[in-house]
Amino acid sequence: MIRTRFAPSPNGLLHLGHAYAAIVAHDLARYHGGEFLLRIEDIDAARSRPELAEAMMADLQWLGLEWDGPVVWQSSRLGSYGAAADRLRAMGLLYPCICTRAEIAAVATQHGPDGLIYPGTCRGRDIDPAGAAWRLDMARAVEIAGPLVWEDELAGPQTATPEIFGDIVLLRKEAPASYHLAATLDDAGDGITLVTRGADLFAASHVHRLLQGLLGLPVPRWHHHGLIVEGDGRKLAKRRGSPSLADMRRDGVDGRALADDLRHALLPAGLSLITGIGCVP
Ligand code: GLU
Repeated sequence: MIRTRFAPSPNGLLHLGHAYAAIVAHDLARYHGGEFLLRIEDIDAARSRPELAEAMMADLQWLGLEWDGPVVWQSSRLGSYGAAADRLRAMGLLYPCICTRAEIAAVATQHGPDGLIYPGTCRGRDIDPAGAAWRLDMARAVEIAGPLVWEDELAGPQTATPEIFGDIVLLRKEAPASYHLAATLDDAGDGITLVTRGADLFAASHVHRLLQGLLGLPVPRWHHHGLIVEGDGRKLAKRRGSPSLADMRRDGVDGRALADDLRHALLPAGLSLITGIGCVP
C-alpha cells in the first residue's frame, strides 16, 4: 500500500506553495487507494510555534485535504534520532564540530546544494563534544555504504551522489537533529513508501538515500514535484508578500475551489508552476 505525507515545519504560515505540496501528497495517496499522513516537523524548539501548527491543520481542512490517523509530532521522536546518531558514531562516521558560520565562510571555497561545503576543519581534531554539532564524515560514509541508487517517479532512476554536500551536520547544536536525519528516520518510522516534496529538495534525497543505506532503513520512492514561483522566478515567501493560506481563509476564499485550481495549475496572476529538476530557482 502506498503511504505519503505532508511534513510542514511550524515556523511560518503556509502559502500556496505548501498548499500545492500538500495536494500532491494527498492526491497521490488517494489515487492509489493509499494513506496520507500529516507530520508536523517541530523539533526546532526555538522556531516552532504550536499556534502555527493549529493554523496548518485548519488550512488543510479548508483545502478539503483530510489526513489519515493521528497527526505525527516530530518532537515526540527525539529518542530515535539519538539512537541513530549513536549507531553512526559507533561506525566512526560522526565527528564533533565547533566551527561558527563565519569561520566556515572564511575558509570554504566550494558550494554544494545547501551552500558552502564544510572544508573539514574539525575532522580528526580532538574536540570536546559538549555544545558541538556532529558532522557526517561523508567520504567514509560513501565508502562504507557503497554505490546506491534511488528512483524518482518523474525524473527516473538516480545514482546517489551525497558527496556533493560534503560533511553535513546531522546533529545541530541548537536542535536535536538536522532536517536530513529527522526526515529520513521519520519517513522510515511512519512507513512512508512515496516521499513527495518540491524539486528544490531533490538533492537532499541523495543524502537521505545514503542514511537509509547506512542505517538499514527501507527505501521509499520519491516524487519531486514542481514549484510555484513568482514572476521573477523566485519561490513564494511570506516575507516577500505572498499571502498566507490563513489570510485567504479569513478573507472568505473557497479553499476547495482553490485546491482544484491548483490541481489544474490555475494560479493567481503573476505566479507560475515550474517543473523538472532544473527548475530550482
Ligand atoms: N519540513 C520540511 C519543509 O517544510 C519537509 C520537507 C520534506 O517534505 O521532506 O520543507
